Amino acid sequence: MGINILWDQQAPEGIELPVARMIAMILGRETGLVEYPFLIDGYDRNRNQHDAQTILDRLQDTLTRRYEISGPLLLVTCKDLYVNGCDFVFGLARPTSGVAVVSTARFGNGYYGRKPDDTDLIDRAAKEGAHELGHLLGLGHCGNPECVMFRPRTLDELDRKRKMLCPACREALALGIEN
Ligand SMILES: [Zn+2]
Ligand SMILES: [Zn+2]
Repeated sequence: MGINILWDQQAPEGIELPVARMIAMILGRETGLVEYPFLIDGYDRNRNQHDAQTILDRLQDTLTRRYEISGPLLLVTCKDLYVNGCDFVFGLARPTSGVAVVSTARFGNGYYGRKPDDTDLIDRAAKEGAHELGHLLGLGHCGNPECVMFRPRTLDELDRKRKMLCPACREALALGIEN
């Protein structure tokens, strides 16, 4: 079962392929970039952020129903995301419907006043994209701070993760069981 990656037209250009390849490497699954017209809603003017749940609602509805995509689907967007009760989220997955979203808004060095670097951007997008897809493939959060399935709350925690699953998560994925 291949993984589908939908790249928002406004998301950073030119890094789609490296990110897709790195996700494939981390998860050991094939990935393919897909293109469909997709409207991103859920904008909250007071927060200047998008509600990740609303985006997933539409992703589930429009795409899986209308285009009959088989296999997990990840949307990569540049919109900054939140869920109720959180200031922000890097991404969100809904395993029951096989859809996930990840935001590049906080992956660029520019957001933190640092020198922009595509390598950093690609690494972070791939790690968090693979993380959300890992949820769709049945993985839970991992306590190992170097594992892709560790839940990072800061950029430093994200950067501390390696571009791979820890042995326990790799095994869980291979067995297709939840951990
Ligand atoms: Zn997670
Ligand atoms: Zn792990």
